[in-house]
Amino acid sequence: MQNIDNYNFSEKKVLIRVDFNVPLNDKFEVTDNTRISASVPTIKKVLKGGGAVILMSHLGRPKSGYEDKFSLKHIVKEVEKLVGQPIKFAPDCIGVEAKELAASLKPGEVLMLENLRFYTSETKGDLDFTEKLAKLGDVYVNDAFGTAHRAHASTTIIAQFFPKDKMFGYLIEKEIFSVSKVLKGGVSPITAIVGGAKVSSKIVIMEQLLDKVDNIIIGGGMAYTFAKAQGGNIGSSLVEMDFLETALDILAKAKNKKVTILLPEDTLAADKFSEEANTQVCDTNNIPDGWMGMDIGEKAIASFTNCILDSKTILWNGPVGVFEMNKFQNGTKSIAMAVAEATKKGAFTLVGGGDSVAAVNKYNLADKVSHVSTGGGAMLEYLEGKELPGIAAILN
Ligand code: AMP
Repeated sequence: MQNIDNYNFSEKKVLIRVDFNVPLNDKFEVTDNTRISASVPTIKKVLKGGGAVILMSHLGRPKSGYEDKFSLKHIVKEVEKLVGQPIKFAPDCIGVEAKELAASLKPGEVLMLENLRFYTSETKGDLDFTEKLAKLGDVYVNDAFGTAHRAHASTTIIAQFFPKDKMFGYLIEKEIFSVSKVLKGGVSPITAIVGGAKVSSKIVIMEQLLDKVDNIIIGGGMAYTFAKAQGGNIGSSLVEMDFLETALDILAKAKNKKVTILLPEDTLAADKFSEEANTQVCDTNNIPDGWMGMDIGEKAIASFTNCILDSKTILWNGPVGVFEMNKFQNGTKSIAMAVAEATKKGAFTLVGGGDSVAAVNKYNLADKVSHVSTGGGAMLEYLEGKELPGIAAILN
């Protein structure tokens, strides 16, 4: 298999699928350029190797056809700033102009194509459309982890046109490497922290993790389904009554497999789902009627922190409380700080999927953990053990 480090890009036109689906404000300025800067190493590698770059991306969810607010022309300036050179722009991703611009591209130059999703053929994976895209370049590089779980034209179907000239960019390489470091070659003790709102959305991941980790820390709204399943009083906390048995089943399987499950001993409960709520700390199994668990309590923070600091490999998926409200952020903030501290002590730490990524960003700890995943849904499916079409298309 080719890889970006040993491939000779000299004189090649390299189609790179990037994920430039960035947020814009009402003046069409990029408000968070993380996704663009994440692909810069791949772009620069190709340029340095003597190739020309053709960038393909989607932006937002246009219905069908051109919509000015979703035009990638709005982000050209930001890409120029981050790549450090002028970027040419093709106002249609296929067609005569794109073909001519691509054909006249010289080594060291960069061309960005207009939003792929102005064609519904992109998400449908239409073969004619894909072939038109493929003909613009000699090499295909996939660096868009966020869409790797979709079998779209530019993320998956296109790879077949480059049987000998397809590879991952650095960003996807790092995502794949990080997950395998946790789930395949992790150094023990391995701990997964699973939070977020619902048990139902994390079941498959937890089942997977039971075979791979030593400890699972459970926090967030889902902890109350576990507490209820074990006979606790959880007041009006979030609960999924259909998943009580599933929760018990996970606890039983964990016991069999000698995986330690840590549930929050205490809870910060509120009398309404609001920043203005009254609060009290109570035993997670004894929350008064009318009160709901919004964050983990101090005892839980202490025991979760101990477990995290003792771990050598850590995966964190989902906040342990309603951290968007400052009143209920203490647990999530403490977990984020513990994960950063463990990293400093030498642990490999991956923060991926869901709002835990937003949490490490909120506390400015993104550069204090080993890897923060860029792909929410893609990371979840990858952790669930599913084969992602965008990844399979390069590997097979
Ligand atoms: P997820 O996307 O599954 O990672 O869920 C993230 C959401 O779970 C966040 O918006 C949190 O506010 C929410 N959440 C965390 N803890 C709780 C809780 N105790 N009660 C209700 N929602 C929660």
